[in-house]
Amino acid sequence: MLDIQNFIDGSFTHALDGESIDDYNPATAQRIATIPRSKFADVELAVTAAQSAQSDWSALTLEQRAQWLDRIADALEEKTEDIARTESVDTGKPIELARRIDAARSVSNFRFFASLGRQQTEMIFEMPDAMNYVHRSPVGTVGLITPWNLPLYLLTWKVAPALLMGNTIIAKPSEITPLTANLLAETLLELGLPNGVFNLVHGLGPEVGQALLEHPKVKAISFTGGTETGRIVARTAAPMFKKLSLELGGKNATVILKDADLDYAVDGAVLAAFTNSGQVCLCGSRIFIDADIVEQFTQRFVEKVNAIQVGDPMDERTTMGSVISPEHLLKVESYIDLAIEEGGTVLTGGTREMTGFNGPQGIGAFLQPTVVGGLPHTSRCATEEIFGPMVTLHTFTTETEALEMVNSSEYGLAGSVWTTDLERGRIFSEKIDTGIVWVNTWLHRDLRTPFGGVKNSGVGREGGQWSLDFFSEMTNVCIKNPDSN
Ligand code: NDP
Repeated sequence: MLDIQNFIDGSFTHALDGESIDDYNPATAQRIATIPRSKFADVELAVTAAQSAQSDWSALTLEQRAQWLDRIADALEEKTEDIARTESVDTGKPIELARRIDAARSVSNFRFFASLGRQQTEMIFEMPDAMNYVHRSPVGTVGLITPWNLPLYLLTWKVAPALLMGNTIIAKPSEITPLTANLLAETLLELGLPNGVFNLVHGLGPEVGQALLEHPKVKAISFTGGTETGRIVARTAAPMFKKLSLELGGKNATVILKDADLDYAVDGAVLAAFTNSGQVCLCGSRIFIDADIVEQFTQRFVEKVNAIQVGDPMDERTTMGSVISPEHLLKVESYIDLAIEEGGTVLTGGTREMTGFNGPQGIGAFLQPTVVGGLPHTSRCATEEIFGPMVTLHTFTTETEALEMVNSSEYGLAGSVWTTDLERGRIFSEKIDTGIVWVNTWLHRDLRTPFGGVKNSGVGREGGQWSLDFFSEMTNVCIKNPDSN
């Protein structure tokens, strides 16, 4: 049992009122930690610490802060195994996945932004009688609110550019997955990052998260989470004119065109559907298949899904772990029931997985990967974000029909198109209302590119220069020499 504490002004500390919350391993249902149930007063302490650290931190040069990012990357890289194990225990995801995606990306987030910082050049605009340049300054104290599906990956995606641009940070991870944020705080303490530059407050979203949104000295909020929570964030922070980045939910389409390389497309569609138990905002949970190939595709897809190894997250052979919590398991199961009520057919899966490793009762939150056919694309199961190991299959006869179905979603985060005709794939992709489209691949990320969604999937872009723009204010300085008249 770990006793996790807040990290404020360079010290670990319990919530001021001493209240705490339990943290569980969803694969075993065991209690693994307690975390502070922080409130406004804890946020106030963190804000005071962040504000006093602000001027010294922002006085460093971009190169000096880039060096900090490199040091953090090196330190995290040394802890790869620790990060992977911690993330696996906290989320129920396979250790192999946690190592390959969560731990690796947490390191590369810092390396990438360090390198991008070094590539910055001055923006100068000459006029006949004057010159302009753009001076960047930090926004100030920023609030980073992150979800449970990729805890350290998504937190460091925000921490790295925020630090680089000279901001001080108050981070609030999901209360369901607090452990790797704590590991990051321990690492920063070991490295001697100046006190108050990075602060961590744990607790419930509507309490400590809300306090962060409401605090007038927190000048920007970078939020990744569900669309409904995003509405609350916008409602609270927008009237205070805080800078806002909202990375929200998705209901992403995987489109299999008639000329797709079927084996390749099946592999990609399975990966897109069930990586991290379908709990990635980019997961392709609606699969649209050309009617001419639907039978072959469906047969191979179901075979491939049946080969997914669900089980002990610590077993290197496991390819799918548990879902995030027993509550989430019930939510996904309710959608499977709904799919049947809505007239769908469960082609595979649909019930809890008795993994064997945690006994015949199957106490962990394990669900079989589930494929549902026969539902209209307008059904609730095909339009609402389920965020679990369940996908729906749909058929189209023309590409126009496919596009209409894909774009009927209220979400617009990501999608993928599978075809051997790359030009056809490109033309089709540009017609999808979404922030990211992959052709013949999925979750293939170049960190320089803009990341974010349209419609109910969010506002703003993260990644590359977009993150640096979000975490800085730009002043246009226009200088005229009086002699030039
Ligand atoms: P939530 O929206 O429930 O929570 C996200 C974060 O917001 C958590 O830290 C949560 O705290 C906090 N929070 C909740 N209520 C408030 C509030 N009133 N004020 C401030 N903060 C609050 O999302 P989940 O954690 O369930 O994550 C899953 C969702 O995230 C999915 O919809 C998924 O699509 C989306 N997501 C989007 C991504 C993107 O890049 N677009 C990437 C990854 C996930 P607590 O946990 O304590 O409630």
